[in-house]
Amino acid sequence: MLEAYHAIPQPPPPQTSDDPIESIIMAIMEWSDATHLAQFGTASLWPGYTFFSNHPKDFHGKPTSKAGFHQAYFASVMPYIFIQSNSSEYPQLPDTVRDSYRQQYGCDMPDEVYTHLKRELMHSIWELLLSEDFMDAYDNGIKIKCWDGIVRLVFPRFLYTGLITQRILLATIKSLGGRPCPRCFVEKKQISETGTVNDMKRRAQIRIDDHPRRMDIESARKAIFGNGNSLKGPSLNAILKKNSWVPTRNAFSKLDTIKTPFNLFTMFVPDLLHEVELGVAKAIIVHLICMLHSLKKTDEFDQRLVFYRYIATLMLTIPRFRQIPTFGRATICSFSHNVSELKHVAARDYEDILQCLLPVIEGLVPSHQGLIDKLCFELALWHGYAKLRMHTTSSIKLFRMATTNLCSTIRRFARETADIKTYELPRRRTSKG
Ligand SMILES: [Zn+2]
Repeated sequence: MLEAYHAIPQPPPPQTSDDPIESIIMAIMEWSDATHLAQFGTASLWPGYTFFSNHPKDFHGKPTSKAGFHQAYFASVMPYIFIQSNSSEYPQLPDTVRDSYRQQYGCDMPDEVYTHLKRELMHSIWELLLSEDFMDAYDNGIKIKCWDGIVRLVFPRFLYTGLITQRILLATIKSLGGRPCPRCFVEKKQISETGTVNDMKRRAQIRIDDHPRRMDIESARKAIFGNGNSLKGPSLNAILKKNSWVPTRNAFSKLDTIKTPFNLFTMFVPDLLHEVELGVAKAIIVHLICMLHSLKKTDEFDQRLVFYRYIATLMLTIPRFRQIPTFGRATICSFSHNVSELKHVAARDYEDILQCLLPVIEGLVPSHQGLIDKLCFELALWHGYAKLRMHTTSSIKLFRMATTNLCSTIRRFARETADIKTYELPRRRTSKG
């Protein structure tokens, strides 16, 4: 955003009180997730949320500040099951699309055609949202009288977050393709090297929405719509597979104008909730619980996690999860049930578990205790850095170092604890029947 600010033109000195005295960036943070509206039935909504990152993080984090807006509702005719299984990443098409396809071609619509149509739908919606008026404001700024009475020339700029599947959809790349990252060209087989020097070099090579890329997409579209090639056919693979592109024109390419050069792949930012709290942190916590199951230590672990009333007690006794008190009204609620059962666990619960894990797991896995302590500490530290309200150059440096250390500890953990046989948690086994 600092770079974007330096790139915008400043207006000439104001002649009248209506003239802007400075140009500023309005950083628009887009976020979207399908929402299931009813306990029973299929009612659902897919709002596109807009936040302004000019607001401080703790301001737009509070629901009472009403800093977020439902800016659009994406087309969504979505079966209940899709939302339940968290695969609601695409706008859904009405069932009649399949019927029309069958009528026209005399066969069922292949899955890849359906997926392609859904992608096209999403980008067409964005094409509408990035209207001519918006593009005019984007290039030339829009005059706004701000709350302090000063007229400013405001230039909107984008950041996009949301589920990784949504970012994949908006980056127009293939989901879980050979190069699965919407931002860089890292290969699927290289993901395990995250945090190494080589990986850092690789991720610096960012995807670019340049002319050759757009020409590839155009040739792929010509192959489909002009020559009737299949979406999975070899001629399309030859053009798109190398970098995992899909044959959809990206609506955000529009933001790359002569006045405002823009690489759309720079706007995707990670989603801490889904990728860390419900991703890496969850996977590590679940695996540690599986290890405790194998070692028959879960009862002790749960007892440690559920409640204590005062921090003072926490200092005096060995804490167990059920003994940990509520910390702050909205920070950590006491663990009222056995954590190892992982019943109704949401992202915030994994966050709480992570923050209380270190003293609880102490002494439970004697054969690898040092390594597990190190892993839990580094994960909690990394998470702490990621959640900071504000970063400085030095905190970013420390954050990078924490990433490198955490990733190498995870690899070491995977190697060295392979001797402990782990199985799926009993609850998961039963739910699968
Ligand atoms: Zn990447």
